[in-house]
Amino acid sequence: MNRRYVIITAISIFVLLLAIPIYSTFFKTNDPIVEEMRAMGVDTTYYFDLDVDPESKIVTGTASIYALNDTEKDLESIYFHLYPNAFEEVEKNDENWETILGDFPLPGFIEMKEIKIDGETSNYVVKNTILEVPLEWKTNELTKVELAFTLNVPLNNNAISYDQYAMWLGNSLPIKSVYDESGWNTDPYYPIGDPFYNEMANYHVKVKVPKEYQVTNTGLDVSPKIEEDSNIYDITANKVRSFSFAILGNEYDKVESQIGNKTIRTWYRKSIDSMEAVNRFHEVSEKSIAFFSEKYGEYPYEDYDVIATRGFFGGMELPGVSLIQGTYFTDNTDYGVNSVAHEAAHQWWFHVVGSNQIEEPWLDESLTVYSTIRFLKEYYPEVAKDTVSRNLHRVTAIDELKTEEQLVKSAVTSFKTWDTYFSVIYSIGPLMFDRLENEIGEEKMDSILSNYFEKYKYKIATGEDLIQTFVEELGEEAETFFHSWLQNEITNLH
Ligand SMILES: [Zn+2]
Repeated sequence: MNRRYVIITAISIFVLLLAIPIYSTFFKTNDPIVEEMRAMGVDTTYYFDLDVDPESKIVTGTASIYALNDTEKDLESIYFHLYPNAFEEVEKNDENWETILGDFPLPGFIEMKEIKIDGETSNYVVKNTILEVPLEWKTNELTKVELAFTLNVPLNNNAISYDQYAMWLGNSLPIKSVYDESGWNTDPYYPIGDPFYNEMANYHVKVKVPKEYQVTNTGLDVSPKIEEDSNIYDITANKVRSFSFAILGNEYDKVESQIGNKTIRTWYRKSIDSMEAVNRFHEVSEKSIAFFSEKYGEYPYEDYDVIATRGFFGGMELPGVSLIQGTYFTDNTDYGVNSVAHEAAHQWWFHVVGSNQIEEPWLDESLTVYSTIRFLKEYYPEVAKDTVSRNLHRVTAIDELKTEEQLVKSAVTSFKTWDTYFSVIYSIGPLMFDRLENEIGEEKMDSILSNYFEKYKYKIATGEDLIQTFVEELGEEAETFFHSWLQNEITNLH
């Protein structure tokens, strides 16, 4: 071979070899999906395509998930939560599970059919609610995870369930686990509290349902495209903490109104719900969304839905949509007023300002109960009075709770029963904020909480972040105050 030819070939190969990593880095950081994610401050974009069969309670789905490794570490696995798998087994012999399973539970789960990483079929391991997929995922790289699955919807008293009128699918789709300074968060589904810890992401979700059904969801409600016997919804929900939706049969109707540029809806069952209750609770939604927007910072989405469903939970907060216990709608009770306002407050404390609800349930839950009472005192003083006296009544056995390490600052895993959880997180925790408000006044309290909202909007806040926001305004005394309450060190409660 001619020597010159060899040199040219060698140089060409060398240049090509150099170009490959440059090209791949270029591709990965300039991909339009990456650009969009970086611009919105999220690291994951989900594309779901779902076909819902309300008869068999089966959702057949695929997902294309684009995830950017922004951890500054090269990772060898990616983890997802498959929350419905918590309901695969309905014989748990545990009173806390029985509370959420109800009297006649039926199992449900997600079955994985196939997983691909960057186009190649991949191995994976499912251990109860956690899916682990091995991959080579360098820092700053984008990876595409494709899932094919079926979701068998369970029947229980919880937020992933159904009845003869509807299916409500809260936290039912695969969602990437959070990677933080402790590594991947792969907690199982705990039977007490709301065992969720999620980050903001973008969602594009296509849902196909039979034409007599309609869909409401976390994102903007849209009109369906009608195709033969189906309604096809093309939904976008950007920068939300998770994506939930409900499939509503023709028994459902809605009351809808505008608050500024926001649409507020209340979905109810035509033949069983009291219209008086529907209108009353709808007004609570309107007023509470406006109130919290004014006091803490604007609700940053265009759409908020409340759905009457069966279930034990009083209410369940989901991003952009709340489930409210149906009996409040049939019986028109004051609990409904409290519950609708409570779930609205969660849009500030849980959704927009996120937290680790497993490690620090007080941070969203106790603050939400406090904010709800703050709202009720303005608009529904009688309901506020009842709520406060019920909370005080529930505060019992503080010393016993303390010796058992069931403290305001405890993780959900420390609590032994729903009762003690309610007593500590829904009663003592809110009293902590209430007593602070007595000291500094409502206005100061609102203004500090609006600073907190502004600072941690779309992020994950910790209890210490909240305390420091108070310290900035009130000095070190605030720290002492919070720390004693968080340890159940309380005197002169009544
Ligand atoms: Zn709550």
